[in-house]
Amino acid sequence: MTNYEEVREELFAAVQMALDEGLLRISEGNLSLRTPDGYVAITPSGIKYKQLKPEEIAIVDLDGRHIDGPCKASSETPMHTAIMRNLPEVGAICHTHSPFAMTFAAAGKDIALINLEAMGCGAPIPVAPWATPGSAAGGEVTVTLFQQRPDLKAVLLRNHGVVAIGENAEDSFDKAFKAEVAAQIYYQALQIGEPVIISRRQLQQTIDTYANFTRKERT
Ligand SMILES: [Zn+2]
Repeated sequence: MTNYEEVREELFAAVQMALDEGLLRISEGNLSLRTPDGYVAITPSGIKYKQLKPEEIAIVDLDGRHIDGPCKASSETPMHTAIMRNLPEVGAICHTHSPFAMTFAAAGKDIALINLEAMGCGAPIPVAPWATPGSAAGGEVTVTLFQQRPDLKAVLLRNHGVVAIGENAEDSFDKAFKAEVAAQIYYQALQIGEPVIISRRQLQQTIDTYANFTRKERT
């Protein structure tokens, strides 16, 4: 049996960051991370995040069958494994019920490209069609959107929450965090006027400037 200590610790660290930033409350939301041997480490079902221990993180296969760990995997495992099966480039998933993003998910309204956080998620952040929570459909509706736009890193599940994807656990947390900040700022901007959307040209200029900066840093 492979020792999953390292993947559990990596996922646990992302859970702590999400807790610290208010993205996870009580036991809502769930995170997963692909293991080096092709399984999925996922937060357990029904455990309060403040009491979670790394060893309680479950290991399942890509069909959601239990492989290792004392706890039952999250009830939203079918959504996570559907994404992992269909998008092999995804290393980790951060699914949250963060309140501002949930507000847009409840209104069925995309989060527009209004700031750098939205840009980091590949905004506009679309709303996926309704899918029964706990079913593989939740994964399938997001896969369709992620496949249509390779730069997209976060999707809203209608009347539910956020699904953010990343290369690793911290990266997927980062995208979920950015989606929540973008949602909060967009919501606030809508209260005081008409939010100004970043244009395609401004987006490209920002991407080019950033690419130049990182190129210089490497040399
Ligand atoms: Zn959920």
